[in-house]
Amino acid sequence: MAARGSGRRNFRLHSTECARVIISRQSWTYTGLPESVSTIPQSDERAGDGEQGGNPIVELRGVSKRYGEQFALEDFSLQVRRGEFITLLGPSGSGKTTILRLVAGFEQPLAGQIFLSGRDASDVPPYVRDVNTVFQHYALFPHLDVFHNVAFGLEQMKQPRDEIRRRVKAILEMVELPGKEDRYPNQLSGGEKQRVALARALVLEPAVLLLDEPLGALDEKLRKQMHFELKRLHERLKITFIFVTHDQEEALVMSDRVAVLNRGRLEQLGTGEEIYERPRTRFVAEFMGVENFFEATLAEHTASETRFEARSGLRLWAGNSNGLAAGAAATLAVRPEAIRVSLSAPVPAPPNALAGEVVEAIYEGGSRRWVVELATGERLIVRDATSANGGTPAITRGTRVHLSWNSCQTLVFPP
Ligand code: ADP
Ligand code: MG
Repeated sequence: MAARGSGRRNFRLHSTECARVIISRQSWTYTGLPESVSTIPQSDERAGDGEQGGNPIVELRGVSKRYGEQFALEDFSLQVRRGEFITLLGPSGSGKTTILRLVAGFEQPLAGQIFLSGRDASDVPPYVRDVNTVFQHYALFPHLDVFHNVAFGLEQMKQPRDEIRRRVKAILEMVELPGKEDRYPNQLSGGEKQRVALARALVLEPAVLLLDEPLGALDEKLRKQMHFELKRLHERLKITFIFVTHDQEEALVMSDRVAVLNRGRLEQLGTGEEIYERPRTRFVAEFMGVENFFEATLAEHTASETRFEARSGLRLWAGNSNGLAAGAAATLAVRPEAIRVSLSAPVPAPPNALAGEVVEAIYEGGSRRWVVELATGERLIVRDATSANGGTPAITRGTRVHLSWNSCQTLVFPP
């Protein structure tokens, strides 16, 4: 299942106010790896930025891939910057694994090209690519202990024994598994197996690490801990991470940039804030937890706001028109957590002010969620942090409530 239901989490990045807090992202400087085992010559422009000069470390250019009649990827282009943590986010079947398999060289594109450090990789076999993959299901060797699982790649490369011992020890410390060298995979917990899988890929010091839903099998608490640890490893090792997930929260908390995929196409590429706060399409908005949509037409522009008329007759105000002209059709949206709920009408009346009756009230732990039916018959979903609402009278089924939000919280999409 796709992680549509961000609703199951109390996940808030912004308040009901419009001030946007843009967290400046650290820009990575790639300093190269200490004893790199890279087999593809590296470009000199190690501090390069994919779009601002310098070679992207990985580039897909107009790549298509088909299985039978079905397109897994269609005219897909993406530039991955050196040293960044980029996440491919999309529902199951959107083409995420296909991208990783193409980058790793396990698959060949039907059309388009893949470049690694600026070089066309079509004739470069997987084992020569300076890329390693961590799979969701670990794929550890059951008959080898932790040490030999991690050492496997180095042994294949006929590295000196002392060197292997040193590097395996160092990487096991880094993933916080010291002292477990003699254990076999069936003597490890899920989280420990995942760390071994990570260590096995990292010990080879690839330029690019591909992570295919590596945390999918872990429980929530362990997953959150691993988010933090992966981020720390990324910062420490300065390897480029291409991380795959269908979980929006996972994408937001770890990534420098997020690429949202839909049916084998790139839907939007940007920082977590950009994707979350300014989704460019309805698909991205829904995927990022926006639940209230209205079909509307643009009625008028004022100096600072735009008024829309919903099909149901509601008048709704937005902070921008998204380039649409008067009379144009649009889809409007508002996040459940952007809507304020009150028992009396707010004074002065905000631009978007509606009244209705609560038809469902759900306690979610960290938040409350209400379904409110308007006189027009439309239903809106509203979410409020429990603590923020702790002092106000309980709003339950049957309560008449007033809903309001600022114009800048209205998202506008082409229909
Ligand atoms: P994701 O990783 O986002 O879930 P995939 O890249 O695995 O998506 O798959 C994209 C599409 O390609 C899906 O429709 C999937 O069924 C199809 N597909 C993937 N691998 C194969 C395969 N080996 N044979 C046939 N179809 C495949
Ligand atoms: Mg997949």
